[in-house]
Amino acid sequence: MESLLPVDLNIKNAKLLQNGKIVKAGIAVESGNIIKISKETNLPNASQEIDVKGLIVLPGIIDAHVHLRDQEQAYKEDFLTGTTAAANGGVTCVLDMPNNKPVTMDVSTLRERMSIAEKKAIVNVGFLSAFPNNVKEIKNIVREGAKAFKLYMSQMIGGIDADDNEALTKAFFEIQKMNVPVCIHAEERQLIESAYSEMKEKKDNSVEAYLKVHSSDIELKATNPAVEITRKSGARIHFCHVSTAKSLQLIKIAKQTGLPVTCEVTPHHLLLSSSDMKELGPIGLTNPPLRSNSDIHSLQSSLKDGVIDIIASDHAPHGINDKQKAEIWQVAPGIAGLETLLPLMLTQVNKGLLSLQKLVQMTSERPAKIFGIKDKGELKEGYSADFVVVDLKNEWKIDSSRFFSKAKFSPFDGWKVKGKPVKTFVNGHLVMDNGEITASPGQGQILR
Ligand SMILES: [Zn+2]
Repeated sequence: MESLLPVDLNIKNAKLLQNGKIVKAGIAVESGNIIKISKETNLPNASQEIDVKGLIVLPGIIDAHVHLRDQEQAYKEDFLTGTTAAANGGVTCVLDMPNNKPVTMDVSTLRERMSIAEKKAIVNVGFLSAFPNNVKEIKNIVREGAKAFKLYMSQMIGGIDADDNEALTKAFFEIQKMNVPVCIHAEERQLIESAYSEMKEKKDNSVEAYLKVHSSDIELKATNPAVEITRKSGARIHFCHVSTAKSLQLIKIAKQTGLPVTCEVTPHHLLLSSSDMKELGPIGLTNPPLRSNSDIHSLQSSLKDGVIDIIASDHAPHGINDKQKAEIWQVAPGIAGLETLLPLMLTQVNKGLLSLQKLVQMTSERPAKIFGIKDKGELKEGYSADFVVVDLKNEWKIDSSRFFSKAKFSPFDGWKVKGKPVKTFVNGHLVMDNGEITASPGQGQILR
């Protein structure tokens, strides 16, 4: 029997993507969840109705690689500014990385971050942890709600040295039991260090020197042992920000042999090259760095052949002073990407280089599956009412001075894009409306 009480919200005059086709439909929302998707005439009565004027409604973006900073790095970003940037970019759920001050690496640091985020976030936030000092803590960290672990092979962050194969193997066996992935930053530390000291000695401060220190071989040489440890332990691994054709090839083979390997690519590695980096200077400096045109070409074709599972921003905000340094070696690596990911990718859709369906798979469906985020990532009855209304025809220019992120600079500044998130809904609430934030701090939920 149908209830006579009105539901919370109806979205009317919408277009949805269903089985690869655009169809007209309405969405009914009750208590933060989608309770009905149907022809408008079949929707229940609602206390509020929002007419989206024939625009497309997509599942909210789940950005699996975000540095929200806060705590001792709140000058770079905090949970409010970071999640506000997310809402502005059509991102309804972010996964926060553990390389914070203090590092997220045990139950107490994780709890502390969750409790700060809970009061400030306006989109949903899940957390990654670094490895703890004691591998026995791994299961407690997962029980506390961590969605994955992060392993930096380029430097020691957390309790385990990536070069300590025995400790690492133990940790991977422990992780395997908990069925969460380990996200890998694949750059080989010792090779970075020796190349770096060589450049230091030569007093070489050039972009070319930086690219040599973070060469594609250095990425490959970390990708390989990570695959091997997965082969041994059976633990799931997820390669962050894959940037080279060689690493992709290795990942492709690992997948073909049935290993539980997934990977991500960022918009900046897809759209910018190392020659752009020379023009951009510190604003374009990130790790792994921007690569050659042939690497970009490989990444773009792997979007289509399924080797790349997801697109994530690697939103890595810094203060402008962290970027303006006398020496390239002191420049903080990272690009703020939450507010540009969706517009840049919708532009690719408009150019015919990517289908809308594929985009939704890589930015919503697959991240939810890989990171075990329940009832999100799709527009489905019973799922969270997390969605974004996009205007595919809206042509505009990226202007980083208008970012909600504290990092008001971007290598995409001034880029003409086509496609804009115009309304973002999180847990059934409108949180962004035409660039205005309509949520109050704490409306986002913590994934546990
Ligand atoms: Zn990162």
